[in-house]
Formats: sequence, C-alpha cells, structure tokens
Amino acid sequence: MDASQRERVRQRYAYSCGYCSVHESDVGATLTVDHHHPTAHGGTNDDENLVYCCPRCNEHKGAYWHEVQIPYIRLLHPLEDDLTLHLREQQNSDLISETAEGTFYIQRLRLNRPQLIEHRRRKHADQKTHNEVFASGIISVGHFAFGLISVGNFSFGVISIGMFCSCGIISIGVMFSVGIIAIGYSHAYGVIAIAIGSKKPFEKSTYVNGKAFGVIAIGRQTHGVYSLSYGEEGEGVYQFSPKRQAPEAVALFTRWFKKFKGAFVSSS
Ligand SMILES: [Zn+2]
Repeated sequence: MDASQRERVRQRYAYSCGYCSVHESDVGATLTVDHHHPTAHGGTNDDENLVYCCPRCNEHKGAYWHEVQIPYIRLLHPLEDDLTLHLREQQNSDLISETAEGTFYIQRLRLNRPQLIEHRRRKHADQKTHNEVFASGIISVGHFAFGLISVGNFSFGVISIGMFCSCGIISIGVMFSVGIIAIGYSHAYGVIAIAIGSKKPFEKSTYVNGKAFGVIAIGRQTHGVYSLSYGEEGEGVYQFSPKRQAPEAVALFTRWFKKFKGAFVSSS
C-alpha cells in the first residue's frame, strides 16, 4: 500500500476508526489500515477491502474470516453494511445488537470496552453542552438560538425572542430587537418598532430606554414616519407625543385605534 492509497483510506473513513469511531485526534496519532477480508484468506488490496481502524480494533479483529473460522458469522463492513440495522446505542452509551451479526461484531471487536463507553459518554456530554450554547432547529432554545422559532440570550429566527439581542421577522428582545415587527424593552428597530422602556426607579419623572426606530415607531423615544411616543423625544412626520400632537397624527391614530378595536373587540 503506497502513501496515496493510505491517504485515500484515511479520507474515506473521515480520519476515524471504521469499527469503533475514535478519531485520530482522540488517539493522538494516525491509525492503522485493516484488510477486512484478510490477505491470508484471499483478500485484495482494493480500497473497498481496506478499513481505517485504531490499533486496538485491528488487534481484536485479527485475521478473522467467516468462511474459515468459527462461528462462521460474517463480520460487518463499516461502509458496505448499514450498521444502524445491526447496532443501537443505549442511553448509557452501551452498544447493543439487533442481529446475530451485530452481536458478533460487538463481541469480536470488544466495542463495549470500558474506555470506549467512556469515550462515547464524553462525546455526548460535549454535544449536549454545544447544543445548549448553540441551538438550532425548527424550535430552538439556547444561549445562541437559530431556528424558525428561536428563544435565547441571542436569538435569530423567523419568530425570535431574545434576552439581549433578537433578530427576526417578528422579534421580541429585551435589550436590542431588530425585525420587520420588533418589540423591545430597550431598543427596537423595525418597520413596526415598539420599545417600551420604563421609568427610572426612584426617579418617577425620568424614563430610561424605550428607543424605537421604525416606519411606525411606538415607545418612549421614537423616530419614525408614524411616531407615537410617551416621552418628550419623539420625532416623526405623524407625531403624537407630549411635545407635539400633529393633528393629522391624532386623526390617523384615532382611526387606527377604532379599526383595531373593531377587529378585536366585538361590538354588542
Ligand atoms: Zn477502533
């Protein structure tokens, strides 16, 4: 086997043991190459017959060939057989078999050796931590969440709810919210932007945050075409705020309010 063939085998097996899945970086070294059908029993040097594997799996497998050795059960091939039909991993990281070939495969290669179980356990724990930090999916919840519906400290999604920062078509964020419809406490930027803000504790006359920037901006300090603010710092073509009540804005907002009321409150 020349260097280029060896490299091909490494790549085919993604630098991991075909039998037990440990990666070169787990072992801290390159792995060995096994002839699945041993040359001693007529196996070839074709790529398909070569399995990249760790020294321990290689040693356990040895020169086994089912046609000449008891128990005459074929050893599954990591790439040519669908191992998921034969093996299943349990919650506790033990491998269990679904078929006779699966049972033999686990036994021959000692795939439940304690170090491997521990290895699988750690991998799952790492994955879990990673998923908690970076969540993705249809509905995703995590420190950083990316999904159709995302909830997190920093969230990005169609509907997005974030503690610090949120970005989405509909976006609800405590600190910064950016979206087509953006609702926030501190800062909101969107076509429709609503930033609530609040009064400073102990200083009832002073408001903090509540900055809304949008075509329709509602909040304490608003910048928008249609600006509805309850603080002094509103700015807009149609502006309704303590500082200025544009007559067109009053008429427009009254009309909107009536429409809104008509849509959601049934008149009796
Ligand atoms: Zn291995």
